[in-house]
Amino acid sequence: MQVRTRFAPSPTGYLHVGGARTALFNYLFAKKHGGIFILRVEDTDHARNTEAAREAIFDGLSWLGLQWDEGPEAGGPHGPYFQSQRQEIYDSYFQKLVAADRVYEDGGAYRFRFERKPITMNDLVCGEVTVDYANEEINPDMVVKRSDGTYTFHFVNVVDDIEMEMTHVIRGEDHLMNTPKHLQLFEAFGIEPPKYAHIPLILNMDGSKMSKRDQGAALGEYPVNGYTDKAVFNFLALLGWSPKDEQEIFSPEELIEKFTIENVNRAPAKFDIDKCKWMNQQHLAKLSPEEFAAEANPFVENAGLVTGSDFTAIAASIQEKVSLLAEVPAMVSFFLNEDYPFCPEAIEKVKKNEQAADLLAKLADALEGLTDWSQAKETIGETAKANGAKPGQLMFPTRVALTGAAGGPDLGDILNILGHKDSVRRIRRAVEELS
Ligand code: GLU
Repeated sequence: MQVRTRFAPSPTGYLHVGGARTALFNYLFAKKHGGIFILRVEDTDHARNTEAAREAIFDGLSWLGLQWDEGPEAGGPHGPYFQSQRQEIYDSYFQKLVAADRVYEDGGAYRFRFERKPITMNDLVCGEVTVDYANEEINPDMVVKRSDGTYTFHFVNVVDDIEMEMTHVIRGEDHLMNTPKHLQLFEAFGIEPPKYAHIPLILNMDGSKMSKRDQGAALGEYPVNGYTDKAVFNFLALLGWSPKDEQEIFSPEELIEKFTIENVNRAPAKFDIDKCKWMNQQHLAKLSPEEFAAEANPFVENAGLVTGSDFTAIAASIQEKVSLLAEVPAMVSFFLNEDYPFCPEAIEKVKKNEQAADLLAKLADALEGLTDWSQAKETIGETAKANGAKPGQLMFPTRVALTGAAGGPDLGDILNILGHKDSVRRIRRAVEELS
């Protein structure tokens, strides 16, 4: 039987990382088994649904690369994939319950008659869970149809899982205790239920439940802050699942290959944004210089800087130091701005050595006369020695002269990228600044 999984978000608010993680696990499981991943929009709550929330879901899934095989826009044999457009289907299922005498009216609404017996489910993650329906006071019959004619979550969720032929339902642990109710409905319809896997909650580092306002809660923040799709894919996969070995950095393809429900943890997942940053740095470092430059370019241009043909070399000079792409503009602006500012503390530090301005002036002369630019870095040490100073005494002032700052890329890379004329001009500009 072909595996069929679904992500069934309610489009209220934005796409939360918890939702994105649920979508990812469904996607990984389906793809691992050559199955079908479905997107179904649970938009029956008209008062709370928004167009913006719907777009955020589509955009977020697309950004992560979780392309759905059936669903809105993609279409498929079990549409429409918006619950708000499936009223007739729900009516026909409701009639089946009426015919089987499983519903009765109660103040205009309709309640579903539970079978008064224990219901046991075998959750693929949580194991055996039993709810005993013997006591009507504790588990009163549930409303399936409201007095206004709309159907409740439990009812439409089950009808759609039947109609869309789900084989596996992977969803948040907050739905664990709903599942026996769903099993009651499956039994009433005489349909074999899908297999259920309830995945662990996501907690903040301090153990509190992650809320909408917590940092990193909205998936939409990630691309803006300069996380890459593959790093976030990797990070979300490890929120409640682990490959049970030391490896932490995975490509999407590796995750599809390695993912199993057996390795989903029972314990809650800890949400560690610093770990996500670290993973992003690891993923960025693996890119080719061309790929890295292409990822960084929009951030640099958005910051109002103009990149040229040497941007790949510029980006490569800082690639390993970058955790978030949003850091790149500040790191490369000196390359792209002739009048880059001098950091006051760096200039003060240079001024502590009274010789610095003089040494830099001599260096500018020496570099100006250089015929082989590959010797530029050596020339710094030679100039220092020729003037009775240590190489280190001129290295730092040269760095500040070329970049305006105390830290940054490798000095050799900087000289290569700036080239002969620009380097000399920059050093002379610093000499003026110092005197
Ligand atoms: N719309 C439900 C939710 O957002 C879906 C639950 C399920 O996956 O069955 O939580």
